[in-house]
Amino acid sequence: MGKGKRVLIVGAGPAGLFCAYRLVEAGIPVLLVDRMAAPGRKFLLAGSSGGLNCTHRGTPGELSVKYYGNEALFKGLLEDFSPDDLIKWYRKIGSDTFVGNGGKIFTKVPVQEVLAAWLERLEASPLFTFKGGCEFTGFGSKAGQFMFRQGESALGLEAEYAVFALGGGSRPETGSNGAWVNAFQAAGIQVAPLRAANCGVEAAWSPLLRERIAGHVPGSGTSLDIALTCSGSPSTGEVVLTGYGLEGSGVYSIGWYIRQELAKSGKCTITADLLPHLSAQQLQRRLSKPRRKSSLSNYARKTLGLTGLPYLLFRELSPDGDLSQVKNLPLAITGCRPLEEAISSAGGVALSQLDSSLMLKSRPGCFVIGEMADWEAPTGGYLLQGCFSTAFRAAEKIIDLFS
Ligand SMILES: Cc1cc2nc3c(=O)[nH]c(=O)nc-3n(C[C@H](O)[C@H](O)[C@H](O)COP(=O)(O)OP(=O)(O)OC[C@H]3O[C@@H](n4cnc5c(N)ncnc54)[C@H](O)[C@@H]3O)c2cc1C
Repeated sequence: MGKGKRVLIVGAGPAGLFCAYRLVEAGIPVLLVDRMAAPGRKFLLAGSSGGLNCTHRGTPGELSVKYYGNEALFKGLLEDFSPDDLIKWYRKIGSDTFVGNGGKIFTKVPVQEVLAAWLERLEASPLFTFKGGCEFTGFGSKAGQFMFRQGESALGLEAEYAVFALGGGSRPETGSNGAWVNAFQAAGIQVAPLRAANCGVEAAWSPLLRERIAGHVPGSGTSLDIALTCSGSPSTGEVVLTGYGLEGSGVYSIGWYIRQELAKSGKCTITADLLPHLSAQQLQRRLSKPRRKSSLSNYARKTLGLTGLPYLLFRELSPDGDLSQVKNLPLAITGCRPLEEAISSAGGVALSQLDSSLMLKSRPGCFVIGEMADWEAPTGGYLLQGCFSTAFRAAEKIIDLFS
């Protein structure tokens, strides 16, 4: 590629694809490259079970608190490209959306069709080129030169403007393997190590409980109607008990707080409420009924409806069987599941390395967007919204530079 008026975008996940879409729409030629043969592998995975949760309802101010520690940056990013803007864009490419549980917004059209419509529009433009199987390996010795591996061959591409959208390190089978971290660090760019975010957590269950949860099927779990709290923050969403600990959106919603505690002291004790639909007063009233000669399990079943796995969990967390604590049980978390299993990554290119247009301060003309920058958010559509809003910010700057 000649070093001319063509923007090089590296990474064809939603962030890279949306940046390409905006630039092509503005009449700017784009070469989009990816190490995988086809674009959007993680995007497809994100929408593969139960629809694509593409954003979340709320104003930029309301949503920005979900981008832990980066509220001011994301308030601005979401003001520039908001959930409403994203909803309009999905409609433009052929998918209406609907509001689901707790304000999550989903596309009505399956994710494969969304991606197909997106790519169809890009590919219809003579300004757009996609090159698969092309892996970024590092910055070249000259400004504006970028090194790749294609099969067995090394390849140098030149571009005045390059946008990096290489994702995090979770689910490496989708292409986002986090190997770019070394290349960026070698170029003197500060990158926080990639860590699991929106991931399961581990708890040292007794062999009896582990056996009951998982049975003999590895990886299986049971969804429980329980609520968790960490550092005063309540969970929202499903909690799944697994042989190694806990999974589900309820756990992810407090995952940031759990990881802060683990990082501070190597330990984290969260609180489990095994009867979230019962108020403290209702619990007290029910427990005022005398137990007489009932066994603890019979009494728990008759007065509180606590049976089966929730009862076993209660006995695990309260060895002395104190039912008055059933809404307030300490649960020790021993660690997080590995990055490869996680939904997203924490860490990435330090935001201090980027200017307000998300351009690398040390490499003018190079932008960093999407999950590879060091921001994080819980599940619920915030991740994809963040990827689109960061892509929009960089694209607008490039459009400005071109005009
Ligand atoms: C199971 C699962 C469910 C999810 N569900 C949701 C959800 O419901 N809602 C939500 O908002 N988010 C969800 N996410 C998260 C969301 O999919 C990601 O945050 C999003 O895909 C990140 O987009 P990105 O463009 O930044 O990076 P990615 O989508 O990771 O794309 C990065 C691209 O860069 C390419 N690449 C990496 N390294 C190189 C290299 N060296 N050279 C060339 N190319 C390279 C990769 O092949 C990949 O195509 C989910 C994720 C998973 C795994």
